[in-house]
Amino acid sequence: MNYYIWTIGCQMNVADSRRLESALERLGHTHVDRAEEADIIVLNTCVVRQSAENKIYGRLGSLKPLKAGRPGTVIAVMGCFVGRGDASHLAQRFPWVDVWMPPSDPHPLIDHLTQRGLVDEDRAMETAAVLRRYRLQDGAASHALILPARERGTLVSAYISIVLGCSHACSYCIIPYRRGSERSRPVTDILEEAEALAAQDVREITLLGQIVDRYGLDLPGEPSLPLLLRRLHDVEGLERIRFLTSHPNWMTDELMDAVTELPKVCEHIEVPVQAGDDEVLQRMRRGYTVDDYDRLIGRIRERIEGVSIATDIIVGFPGETREQFQRTYDLLAELRLDKAHIARYSPRPQTLAERRYEDDVPLAEKERRRKALDDLQAGIVGEINAQLLDKTVEVLVEGKKKDRWWGRTRTDKLVYFEDAADWRGQLATVRVTWAGPWSLIGEVCDQPQKPHPANSASGPGTSATR
Ligand code: SAH
Repeated sequence: MNYYIWTIGCQMNVADSRRLESALERLGHTHVDRAEEADIIVLNTCVVRQSAENKIYGRLGSLKPLKAGRPGTVIAVMGCFVGRGDASHLAQRFPWVDVWMPPSDPHPLIDHLTQRGLVDEDRAMETAAVLRRYRLQDGAASHALILPARERGTLVSAYISIVLGCSHACSYCIIPYRRGSERSRPVTDILEEAEALAAQDVREITLLGQIVDRYGLDLPGEPSLPLLLRRLHDVEGLERIRFLTSHPNWMTDELMDAVTELPKVCEHIEVPVQAGDDEVLQRMRRGYTVDDYDRLIGRIRERIEGVSIATDIIVGFPGETREQFQRTYDLLAELRLDKAHIARYSPRPQTLAERRYEDDVPLAEKERRRKALDDLQAGIVGEINAQLLDKTVEVLVEGKKKDRWWGRTRTDKLVYFEDAADWRGQLATVRVTWAGPWSLIGEVCDQPQKPHPANSASGPGTSATR
């Protein structure tokens, strides 16, 4: 049968969708690009802001007539729209959906397909055993992730979730309510997944966690993120390792040292500040002050040479005055970071902020604040990137768009270049000839070291099933 997956939201959803696709392909199903051609349709959802949630209602609505016309189609909804609790209120509201699945858990769909006799039971059991590892139960799993066919041999950079859920409870954030409490995956499982990915020609992994630098604190022996990085550094075939998202209170010197000492670990830190005013930060329950953050950025820059730093900011948090917003603006201007994701505050059900505070900054004012920060940041990044003109950067090439190869620098900057050789999966030395705030263009200075395995006789990903 054919399956179709629609994914929105964070990198963790991308990782969750890939895992589900891998499971569906183990069960013998084939990916298609359009819902209309699929027998199994999965929506992997995000509700971090109302705007994301609204997209889901649109998609769900369009599936209703499809299901009416083809009642045999299996429709599954996964992710933060569903959450980890009882989904019967959703089932009542959207009766054309067959399966409701929590984030990071493909089992309900596999069980459903098995019950309906749509998959071979032995295969379903084997797949469930493989997946069980990811559920952090002790399973008899013997294989790690096998990439979906369309990505095998072509995917260069992959996400690995290492901390599921979150227990921090920032007052605006719905994630803990939908992804559950913080759980770290065992070191051995992560290593196995990284090795399997590298054997399938993946060259870069990005480790994911809501507070990734808290990795391991809930595990026996408390293996830390620096320790995990050291172990992953030995995985053959990997060229680069990244991790996100860091929380200012958990970024240790030890972690920064691991970044500088381990050549594969990239000099790029994503550490959200969220606001530049202490009173707002306090009501956000972030647990640090502007001064703390300022000092942390200083420490990161001191310890990690050439580091690039990204941040997230929410504008229009309840009660945020013009003066408080101005302090955020001034902080961003002072810090001169490499990237800032700016979001307008969106009240989320269950959260402390939604229960306690009125959403009192008008939408037009939130938009004004968002745009002011975006414009400021574009100017800053434009200037930072202009310093790269005529310099050479190392680019891990991820693919080709139209006639141009594209990839990213170690500092996570997007680079395009044109060349006749096959660069996919290769490290290219590129001299920057044009620099804008969102991307760089350059000329390649060297030759590919080796043809990408996708184009060699041995075929893609054959070594994955160990
Ligand atoms: N745990 C990660 C990611 C959280 S979600 C972290 O600490 O950054 C990604 C970003 O979405 C957050 O950093 C925040 O800036 C934004 N966000 C979260 N909840 C939001 C809300 N209710 N309204 C607007 N933006 C929100």
